[in-house]
Order: sequence, then structure tokens, then C-alpha cells
Amino acid sequence: MTAVRRALSPSARALLERVSHTAGGPRFPVHDAARPLAAPIAHVKDASGADAVVAIHRSADAFATWRHESPARRAEALSGWHARMMASAEDLAQITALEAGKALADTRREVAYAASFIDWCAALARQTAGEVLLPSSRDHRQLVLKEPIGPVAVITPWNFPLAMITRKVSAALGAGCTTVVKPAETTPLSALALEALAHDAGIPSDAFIVLTASRANAAVVGTELCQDPRIRALSFTGSTAVGKHLYRSCADTVKKLELELGGNAPFIVARDADVDVAVASLTAAKLRANGQACVAPNRVLVAREVHDEFIAKLVRTLDETVVLGHGLDDGVTMGPLIDAAAREKFVGFISDATSKGAKLVCGGPDDPRARALSGAGSECEGAPFVAPTVVTDVPPHARCWQEEVFSPLFSVAAFDVEDEAFAMANDTTAGLAAYFCSRDLSRCWRAVEKLEAGVVGINEGAISTCVQPFGGVKESGLGREAGPHALEEFLETKSVTFRLSS
Ligand code: ADP
Repeated sequence: MTAVRRALSPSARALLERVSHTAGGPRFPVHDAARPLAAPIAHVKDASGADAVVAIHRSADAFATWRHESPARRAEALSGWHARMMASAEDLAQITALEAGKALADTRREVAYAASFIDWCAALARQTAGEVLLPSSRDHRQLVLKEPIGPVAVITPWNFPLAMITRKVSAALGAGCTTVVKPAETTPLSALALEALAHDAGIPSDAFIVLTASRANAAVVGTELCQDPRIRALSFTGSTAVGKHLYRSCADTVKKLELELGGNAPFIVARDADVDVAVASLTAAKLRANGQACVAPNRVLVAREVHDEFIAKLVRTLDETVVLGHGLDDGVTMGPLIDAAAREKFVGFISDATSKGAKLVCGGPDDPRARALSGAGSECEGAPFVAPTVVTDVPPHARCWQEEVFSPLFSVAAFDVEDEAFAMANDTTAGLAAYFCSRDLSRCWRAVEKLEAGVVGINEGAISTCVQPFGGVKESGLGREAGPHALEEFLETKSVTFRLSS
């Protein structure tokens, strides 16, 4: 049994109340994702297109000042934001767990991960520099300046509501840009809490503006952000469909784009893999955010020689380690999916796969644990809980093989020849993450070169940290976040030529 808490601590409640919108004007409700039938936990402002125009105006004005702040001052402000995040880490973890439906253990890790990008970008902000070139002739001197690109629009999803904002905003602010952030409609409170802490730390209020909007208003706010010529870059994380729409929408003003879109990550287990390591890496990568991460392994390809051992160990691990429940309850490792539509998709993927010959090994749409949690009269009535589910013998034409499942559904197929596995792995329009497990160094190296992905994990399921660039190839996106060049996405290069008088 897990201990029941389900309520925020007094300090988390105070932070939530501070950022909730109590004044007049249009508002929309925010729910506890694990208790969809309960009263909303807060209301926040529902921004309109006109509000977006005002925010852009404020951002453009603030840019005129922030761009000329010394790098040291910008770095200090970021460091202050990092310190305040760490001081409020538990409050942020609780608020995020509540609105995103994630387990507290998961959101505590997210707070540390999210804060690491701010710390990282504070250091980079001090180091950004141009270049003095060797001259092209005796009478000329040439140099390269790095300048902030301008006000940046940031649109983020609900699955990592803290980290997707800090990763983008700290790089933009560090580069000297200002930001207007539209967070996901399901998780606006995490965003507003981050904004409040940043302002407390001395980041000017107009340099980092959070514009919360309901799903109904997302498109009008998005249109203003994409089409206003004063916004010079868009950094977006979300679905491929919305990303493509925003890409088109930014064409008329030729904005710089950074797009982190959907994935369809392969996870390959070679015949000489350490099966225990492979299972641990797979479950770590897959179960984060309740299976709702763009880097989550979507297609598991296992060498036939180790297939049965792998499945047995995977099922045992899931059984022994996953505890479903309300994210704020002690001991819970996995909350519900984000909404009922996500659960319907999960059920549809399983019935489609089994109708095409796949075998359901554990979990599934009728899992009694998930049912008991969300059944009539229960505390979490109506919450879209699903249990980790394993299906094997999945054919390539199954929908769960072709689309991003965004749920704890492990779709597995066996393979005989390694090249066959690479061909299957690359047979997708997505190219975000890919994973490969083997004890053989040469085989691992070949895998790194053959896999079409922006991020590759070898015997490892945790593949994103502040030190390394993150982003996809093919239709998974454009640009890279984090890593040594994190600020580059938000900098323009100005080439300068001096002619000397003789
Ligand atoms: P998900 O399926 O993860 O919700 P979406 O791509 O639908 O991913 O949403 C990611 C972000 O994009 C959210 O902040 C959402 O409100 C926003 N969004 C969705 N549609 C639009 C749109 N037409 N214009 C601008 N933003 C949008």
C-alpha cells in the first residue's frame, strides 16, 4: 500500500496561489491530472491574440535594454534563477506532479534536470565571444561579432513542463534575447512558478513573459507569435503536426526555427547484449513521464537468441518496480496518462496490434490495477490510468510501430540479422533518439554510425543532460538545444570588414 498524501505542502500551496489568476478577465481551469472529476486546482489567465501583441511589444522594448546588459550581469541573473529554483525544488516538484500527473520521484528529477540548463547557460553566457580573423589583405581587418537574434517565442508541451522551458529560456536569455513563453494549457502553473522565481532573481519581468492560454486560444496566440516581425526566432517542442504548422506560419517573417518534434525511437538489443543492462536502460528510458516522452523507445527490436530471456526479465522488472497511483502518494512511480484521449489511443494501439498478430504479454486495456484506481467511487475516478504493457511479435504495419505511442506500451519484435534491425530502425520519418545494447565495441560503433537519429544511447537509456546537444534529424526537428553551443541558436553572426587608411 502507498501512503496517501495527495495535497500540496503549505509552501507549494503558497507558490501555487501566488501564480494563480484571481483578477477579472477570461480564465481557464487547471486540473489535478489524476483527479479529473474533482474541482480545478487553480485558474489562470486565458490570453487572447491582443494579449499576445501586448506581450510582444513589452518583449521588444525589453530587448533594447537586455541585449546591452553585460554578459556578467546576465549570467548573475541566471545563476540567481537557478538558486531560487533549487531553494523551491520541492514546491516545484509537487506542483508539476499535480498538474502533469507525474510521480513525485519523477518530477523531483525533472526539477534538478531543468535547473541544470540554467546553471549551464549562465556559464556559457560569460564565454560567448566573436572572432578576430587573419586579414584577407594588408589594408583590411576582419572580425566576427555574435549578437542576440531578438525577442524569441517559446512554445512548450506538458510532459516536461519545467525542463522544456528552462532549456530554451536560459539559452535565449543568456544570449541576450528576451522571451515570450506559451506553455501547454494542461501545465501552466509550473511555467508561472518558473517565471515568478526568475523575476524574484532579478531577470526583468519583460525579458521573460509567460502567456498562458487555453487550447481554444493556443492557435490565435501562436499566430501572433509566428507572424509578428519583431519576434525573430521560435523555439517549439511538441507534436510533429503542430510543429509543421508553426514552421509554415513563420515563413512570411523568415524566423529562425528550433523545432523539437515527435520521435519513433528504436531500441535494439543485440544477441551479445547484457540483458539486465538492456532491460534497465529500456525501462528507465520508457517509463519517464509515464511513458510520455519524445525520446521514449517506441519500437523494441530484440535479437532472436535473447528474445525470450529479455521478455521474461522485462515483465518481471515492470511487475516488481512499477507502482501506479496518484503522483503525490509516497512510493508511486507512475501516474495516469495526460487525458482520456491519450488512453483511448493506447487502447486503440493494442487492439490494432493484436488484430495484426501481436501477442499481449502483460498489462493491456483491462489491467485490474489501472481499473481499480480509476473506477467509479475511487479517489481518482475517471483518471486515465494504464498499466505498463508488453506486446511481442509486432508487425511493421501495426500502428504502434509506425506512430509515436506516448504511453507505457512496449512494442517488441524479434530480428535475426543485425542489418535487418538497422533497416527496420531507420524505416521511419522520425529521427530523434535511438538506443543500442551490445557488449561488442565495434558493433556499438557501427550502430552509432548507422542509426538515423540526433541522439543515440549505447547501453544507456538516459541520453539527455545539459552538457550535450539535444535534437532530431529528419522530421523530428531542426536545431539543437543545450550542449556547448546552446546559445548559438539565439545568436546572429555579423561579419565586419575594416579598411585601413595608408
Ligand atoms: P501535445 O500533443 O504534446 O499536446 P502539441 O503539439 O499539441 O503537443 O502541443 C504542444 C504545444 O503547442 C502546447 O503548448 C500547445 O498549446 C501548443 N499548440 C497547439 N496548437 C497550436 C497552434 N495552432 N499554435 C500555437 N501553439 C499551439
